[in-house]
Amino acid sequence: MLKAFRAWRRERILGRSTLDNSLWRALTRRYSFMRVLGETERARLHDLVVLFLHQKSLVGAGGLEVREEMRVGIAAQACMLILNLDLDWYRGWTEVIVYPDEFLAEYDYVDEDGVAHHVREPMSGESWLTGPVILSWADTEQADSGGGYNVVIHEFAHKLDMLNGDANGFPPLHGEMSRTDWSRTFGTAYDDFCRRVDARQETRIDPYAAESPAEFFAVLSEAFFEIPHAVRGEYPDVYGQLAAFYRQDPAVRTAP
Ligand SMILES: [Zn+2]
Repeated sequence: MLKAFRAWRRERILGRSTLDNSLWRALTRRYSFMRVLGETERARLHDLVVLFLHQKSLVGAGGLEVREEMRVGIAAQACMLILNLDLDWYRGWTEVIVYPDEFLAEYDYVDEDGVAHHVREPMSGESWLTGPVILSWADTEQADSGGGYNVVIHEFAHKLDMLNGDANGFPPLHGEMSRTDWSRTFGTAYDDFCRRVDARQETRIDPYAAESPAEFFAVLSEAFFEIPHAVRGEYPDVYGQLAAFYRQDPAVRTAP
């Protein structure tokens, strides 16, 4: 009964969609990782975007007016992660806040010596546990520039990671996946990546991934969608785990 009601509600929202078709087509051409989607996947992405925009509110901050193409662009990138999952993976929060550029995050922490610090630092994106996703529009616009940098995918990967508590690089896995394999694969790759970054080796993957296991998962998720062949080449086992988790294989959509 509940299932039937949810399906009816979903169809009603989709039926009332006012998503502009030419805007939608322009946006899916704007991002290379959307251009390569097949017809079925593209139609599914479209429906997820309509449902996402119905459920979430995208609000401007710092004087930014969030235009329709910004709303749809952010929603479409966010929905790439859940293309073969479900909107339910973004449950428990409703707001996406967009600043024109980097914004100042302020927080307090106590270091190992017991000294309290107050930090103000510029951020390109931030995700709060059961709270909003915060994005810098200037950084969002740098998506798909070839380096694997995508702040929307990054922050929404944190959101998936936080479905089972604080971000730690361990999102809730599907029943057919092994927690042991995930830990071993990501642990080994993370140690190797940190060693390479410490040795100042060139990597296709953003060195920021060495920051913590949570950042490693988020940065590898950006690269998984934007430069899948680089991830598959450098860390094939991590690629395999991400493909099983996202239920997508972006490398087969594009030539290396
Ligand atoms: Zn992060």
